[in-house]
Amino acid sequence: MAILMDGKALAAEKMEELRQRTEALKARGVTPGLSVILVGDDPASQVYVRNKGRACEELGFYSRTVRLPEETTQAELETLIDELNADGRVDGILVQLPLPRHLDEAAALRRIRPEKDVDGFHVENAGRLFTGQDGVVACTPKGILYMLKKSGVPLSGKDAVVIGRSNIVGKPVAVLLLNENCTVTLCHSRTADLAAHTRRADVLVAAVGRPRFVTADMVKPGAAVVDVGINRVDGKVVGDVDFAAVEPVAGWISPVPGGVGKMTICMLMENTLEAAEKRSR
Ligand code: NAD
Repeated sequence: MAILMDGKALAAEKMEELRQRTEALKARGVTPGLSVILVGDDPASQVYVRNKGRACEELGFYSRTVRLPEETTQAELETLIDELNADGRVDGILVQLPLPRHLDEAAALRRIRPEKDVDGFHVENAGRLFTGQDGVVACTPKGILYMLKKSGVPLSGKDAVVIGRSNIVGKPVAVLLLNENCTVTLCHSRTADLAAHTRRADVLVAAVGRPRFVTADMVKPGAAVVDVGINRVDGKVVGDVDFAAVEPVAGWISPVPGGVGKMTICMLMENTLEAAEKRSR
């Protein structure tokens, strides 16, 4: 039976640490601030934005959520970003993705001042990660590494396989695993014989967006399996891993819900707090 990488418990512990650091900062007269921009009314985005607001409340951050209508123009969005860039109460700016199709996502992200880019999606922060320089690391990949390390999963010299090559999960998590001295294979939709790769993985990260995509026969016995997927099936949230089938084979496994998603929010709060700590120096 696998050890559960329990995002809920790890997040509770991390939030307590962040609460203490926030109090210490506030005692010095600095309140961390996060502003989330939501364009349109995508139902999943609404839930994520609400959860981010709640986490801010829990830690006592200044929080400003700006909801813009679906028909917002690029110029209107960028004017708002400029305003938040200049707002001294705001340490972190997050543009909730995906944006409506008529908007230029990359341009919007580039508009955020890199030090306020708490999602770590700005090309400067992505470039810093890829070239081994300090910068803001994207929340989900950072949360995955935190979860693996806290769970005591050995990384150095191990074979890590990531399924999915997105800019927000697959690619950055591959770099973070590489930095931990894993030998990393990045798989994707055009990978030939995916299972041949995954079966060699000591650490397997699934960021595909397909319900129960990773089956027991794809997993090496004793592997650490991280499930990043958030898929809605018949009103229920399920991951990219067939948990019931894989759990008896794996050495470690993260559940959905209650896994990576919880870590992502914690890391967003930590990135915002760190931006505020830098401001206070
Ligand atoms: P994406 O759609 O941008 O990327 C999916 C990747 O999966 C692609 O790179 C594609 O090549 C790969 N893929 C698709 N079909 C494949 C196949 N048959 N075989 C191998 N690879 C295949 O998705 P994303 O933004 O990286 O998100 C992935 C999943 O993670 C989604 O379910 C998303 O909701 C979830 N997610 C969760 C969190 C969290 O906090 N837990 C954060 C971000 C994303």
